[in-house]
Amino acid sequence: MQKKEISVIIPVFNESENLSELYQRLITVLSTLSSNYSLIFVNDGSTDNSMAKILTLSQENDDVYYINLSRNFGHQIAVSAGLEHCNSECTVIIDADLQDPPELISELYLKFKAGYEVVSAKRNKREGESAFKKITAKLYYRILKKLVSFEIPLDTGDFRLLSGKVVNAINKMPEQNKFLRGQIAWLGFKQTYVLYDRKTRKHGQSGYSYSKMFRLAFDGITGFSDKPLLFVSRLGFIISLFSFLVIVYAIFSHYFLKETITGWTSLIVSAAFIGGIQLLSIGVIGEYISRINNNVKHRPLYIIDSTNISTNPNSVD
Ligand code: UDP
Ligand code: MG
Repeated sequence: MQKKEISVIIPVFNESENLSELYQRLITVLSTLSSNYSLIFVNDGSTDNSMAKILTLSQENDDVYYINLSRNFGHQIAVSAGLEHCNSECTVIIDADLQDPPELISELYLKFKAGYEVVSAKRNKREGESAFKKITAKLYYRILKKLVSFEIPLDTGDFRLLSGKVVNAINKMPEQNKFLRGQIAWLGFKQTYVLYDRKTRKHGQSGYSYSKMFRLAFDGITGFSDKPLLFVSRLGFIISLFSFLVIVYAIFSHYFLKETITGWTSLIVSAAFIGGIQLLSIGVIGEYISRINNNVKHRPLYIIDSTNISTNPNSVD
């Protein structure tokens, strides 16, 4: 692919009803900014006719590129695939469901022209998302901020503009469990944001199931902080100390006061308590081991079924 001025990466998972409007709105904005742009649709194993629509768009317009993944790999990996295949001065990542207004790209681009390397779109309001999602997201980002040692911007998703330099740096980060918003924040560079109101999804359903959401949340924490490990080791220490005091008390009262704490209740309470804490701690350690396991396998992050971009290192074609 020839070097472009702006590329837009659009991860697509069952978005067939949104694609025409998204495409129209994108090319309207982009054509006001530059004549040298590309749209890169990454089809992440859609089961509807999204891919057929993308193919039609790519036949109609030479600026439309596609990467058709061999199955559903998840949003973060779909975006990573796009990042590895784009070649441009700046790149915008945007959702396909029109929750992120394409028109905001002009504002992001202005900031880029003013010298910023990363311009995030920060959510001012979130319309039409469940209270559960809003509360958990708010809480999560505040916890994450406490756990990591660098500045993670609050209330931002992956809708943002990255300079070519930042894209190159991201592409050099080999981790398998991607948490792009954390990786980008970790990189540093000159970063800023613009505010926007996040709309409700136009058509279709969210492709982020609760399990995908929790996976991402855990990846965000384990990828950037060792504090949970520190927390369980401290917890172990405190509980051992506490248990030791209880043991001394039990022996003392049995032999010297001739009083024995009776029965089943005290046993079951302490066994359940220690059992719970142990399982929790093993779970925390397990999360980190699972990351190590994922990374030592050295598998490709994704497999490409087909693409019209010439440099496709992971293609099975
Ligand atoms: N998406 C994807 N793979 C997935 C899930 C989602 O490529 O496994 C895409 C989806 O098509 C959309 C973007 O990622 O363009 C954000 O997903 P979604 O709107 O479902 O997430 P939400 O906005 O509900 O967090
Ligand atoms: Mg969405």
